[in-house]
Amino acid sequence: MSILIKGGRIIDPSQGIDQKGNLLIENGKIKSYPKSVKKHENDKKVKVINAKGKVVSPGFVDIHVHLREPGFEHKETISTGCRCAAAGGFTSIVCMPNTNPVNDNASVTEYILLKARTEGIVNVFPIGAITKGEMGETLAQIGEMYEAGCVGVSDDGMPVMNSKVMRHAMEYVQAFDIPVISHAEDKNLSGTGVMNEGEVSTQLGLVGIPCASEDVMVSRDITVAELTGARLHICHVSTEGSVRLIRAAKKRGVNVTAEATPHHFTLTDEAVSQYDTNAKMNPPLRGERDRQAVIAGLKDGTIDAIATDHAPHSEDEKKVEFDLAPFGIVGLETALPLSLRLVEDGVLTLDNMISKLTNVPSDILNLGKGTLKAGSAADVVIFDPEKEITVDREKFHSKSNNSPFHGWKLKGSVEYTIVSGKIVYSG
Ligand SMILES: [Zn+2]
Repeated sequence: MSILIKGGRIIDPSQGIDQKGNLLIENGKIKSYPKSVKKHENDKKVKVINAKGKVVSPGFVDIHVHLREPGFEHKETISTGCRCAAAGGFTSIVCMPNTNPVNDNASVTEYILLKARTEGIVNVFPIGAITKGEMGETLAQIGEMYEAGCVGVSDDGMPVMNSKVMRHAMEYVQAFDIPVISHAEDKNLSGTGVMNEGEVSTQLGLVGIPCASEDVMVSRDITVAELTGARLHICHVSTEGSVRLIRAAKKRGVNVTAEATPHHFTLTDEAVSQYDTNAKMNPPLRGERDRQAVIAGLKDGTIDAIATDHAPHSEDEKKVEFDLAPFGIVGLETALPLSLRLVEDGVLTLDNMISKLTNVPSDILNLGKGTLKAGSAADVVIFDPEKEITVDREKFHSKSNNSPFHGWKLKGSVEYTIVSGKIVYSG
């Protein structure tokens, strides 16, 4: 089937395109940008989508997702995670290895990719663990996982506390030109903390996680990346200190990239004040100074990409005392409208925002996605940046609904998500 998307505002940062026009999809690929559409409109084999007033861009790429399968299928599966991604405008997602069993060897990688091919509706790229079982001790089978299709390594959810192990990982990955992806946290400094350490944690009587817990490890990882020359990617930057360290590292030429999540640039630890477990995540929501620093980092390019850290947990698991609830929130279905707030606030241009959700994250992991170049796979999102929506967690396509944004009135609605020329979501 062919699809003609006509009259939209086509924005593709990978080609420097921002113009009104038409896009023709044929045989699963981007075919052309036809000036005249009459011929195609009269062709019965062409589905015509009127995109007037809408933005047409490469499908979004999320390099930080927890799909939970294998092992935690009550939270999310590869099937539901993909449907949720499609509903959020994402056509490619990268899944973290903290499943059960952990994705620390090629057989788990192959299992995930097989499931994604048979049950998934968007492109799924797995990340392998740095260490066996994410235990932080012995390196996982990185070479085999790379051969099987892993695009990077990370012990996300857990830091690699041993600096020598981190050094070995950074030396080893260079043979495959993949990055080490760091969940930067000093477990000893975090201790039993459940939220950001500060005024709010004191008022609430909850144990805090200091910003230093993140800053120390960002500093360590940058230092080891400098020592080894490895490519380092820092996950979910949440502190002013991290932003400063990454900015300085980039200035002196260290091979480091970074991402921030919509919840860290939108919320502060004030969101915890009602002991809402849907405001409990790791790293925790920080203070306003940190939030502003993350926003400044996104603006000046210190933080390259927006990633969701989509972390589904079942309602039963979250409906407990704050101390006992697991860390994490779902994010795929709220990422677009929350990111559009940065555009409305004048922090990012629309092109810039789209870039941080498409070609830039794709390039960090060499995915070859996030583009509308003729000949590439037709992974496209059509969205209305002005349409008002109310976030309703009961309507999420995710198996879980742990979101602090329930009931929020936002702007930005996904109208169509297309993967390899196939419509996988329409709003
Ligand atoms: Zn993490």
